[in-house]
Formats: sequence, structure tokens, C-alpha cells
Amino acid sequence: MPMNIAIDGPVGAGKSSIADQVAQRLHILHLDTGAMYRTVALYMLRNGIDPQDEQTVSARCGEADVRVAYRDGAQRTMLGGEDVSDLIRTGEVSAAASAISKWPAVRRRMVAAQREIAATADMLIDGRDIGTRVLIDAPVKIFLTATPEERARRRYQEMVNKGMDANFDDVLRDLRARDEQDTHRAVDPLRAAEDAVTVDSTHLTFDEVVEAILRIVADKTGGAWA
Ligand code: C5P
Repeated sequence: MPMNIAIDGPVGAGKSSIADQVAQRLHILHLDTGAMYRTVALYMLRNGIDPQDEQTVSARCGEADVRVAYRDGAQRTMLGGEDVSDLIRTGEVSAAASAISKWPAVRRRMVAAQREIAATADMLIDGRDIGTRVLIDAPVKIFLTATPEERARRRYQEMVNKGMDANFDDVLRDLRARDEQDTHRAVDPLRAAEDAVTVDSTHLTFDEVVEAILRIVADKTGGAWA
């Protein structure tokens, strides 16, 4: 039975980059489940389907052939054989992913696909519902969070560093909107699992968060992975 680590948390908490680093340190793969929802969203946008249209999105989500592959240990996310890993990182796809992930038919497919992938290897899996739905028996569950202002500040800084046009108030507003959708949807809303350990990264550096998570993993697994 592969051992899985679940990491959940809101947008901008640094899950993906932290999860990448923790997985590398533990020599296991990292599955970014948000990328899978983003890929379904890209499919809908490409086909002119309104992400808010539950009926059409539900009827057609099975057409999106979403798979993940690993190249040099890094996840590549594929849509019908095309590597869309970079194309799914736009603001338009972020908003559409948040919208389509409300629909139960989409979630059912994604949860099933994620469980299949998780069963193939020791993995660290990040998302919104990993500890509460996808892998309820995961031996290690982390809820990684930070205040909305700090998460928006980091996102804003990242955009500025990339030379993108960014406005802090817009970033904070988008982040709050996605928080609102993720925590208030009817099916599997974002919340900490009862047996998750919460890590608040507001006042921690990247390395401190990585070390804190590695300590939790070592505690929970009796050092099996350390
Ligand atoms: O993590 P990321 O921001 O890339 O995820 C994109 C969107 O996919 C999120 O806003 C969230 O609505 C959705 N998602 C989800 N369940 C997951 C992972 C992501 O609902 N396990």
C-alpha cells in the first residue's frame, strides 16, 4: 500500500512550491490536483462552454482526457496527449477552475482519477479536499494556510518579479473571491480535516514551512520517511 501525504489549504498559501520541495526531500512524487481541475477548465474554455453552466460542464467533463506524467520527477499535466502545464496558469483558467470545481460531476471524476494515481506510488498530494475526501485514510494530513493579506502579498510579489502588470487590491479581491467559492461550495468545501495538523505560514519563511512539515511527517510516520 503506498503511503500518501495530504496537503490542503487556500489559494496562495504556497502549497505547490512547498509541496514540491517537501516531496523532493522525501524522494517521493508530488501530485498537484489543482492542475487537474485547471485542465478540465481549459477544455471548457477552449470549447466555448461557460464554466458556470453546470448542466453542460457536467455532461461534457468526461470528454476531457486529463492525465499526469512525470518528467525528471516534475509533474506535467496533459489534455488529450497535449502538455498544457504552462497554458493552465492564466488568470482566466484560475477563475474557470474555481467555477467548474463546484460541480459534483466534475469532482466525482477528479476524485476517482486522483485516487487511482495515489494508489500507484508513495506521493505527496496537494489540493482542497485531499484530507477530507480523496484520501481520508492518509497517515499524514497538513492544512497549510496564511492570512488573505499575506497570501495576496506573496502572489502580488511573484507577479511583479515576473514583470507582470499587477495591482495589490485586485490580487486581494480575486483571492478572496476564490476563497469564498472554495469554502462555500456545497460539495467538499475547503476545510481542515479533523485529523489534519494546521501550519500557519503567515510569519514563516519558505524554509521554515518546509522544515515544519518534514517534522510533522517524521512524527506521524515514526521517521519512516525521514
Ligand atoms: O490549487 P489551484 O489554485 O491550482 O486549484 C485551482 C482550483 O481548483 C481551485 O481554485 C479550486 O477551486 C479547485 N480545486 C479543488 N479541489 C482540489 C484542487 C483544486 O476544488 N483538490
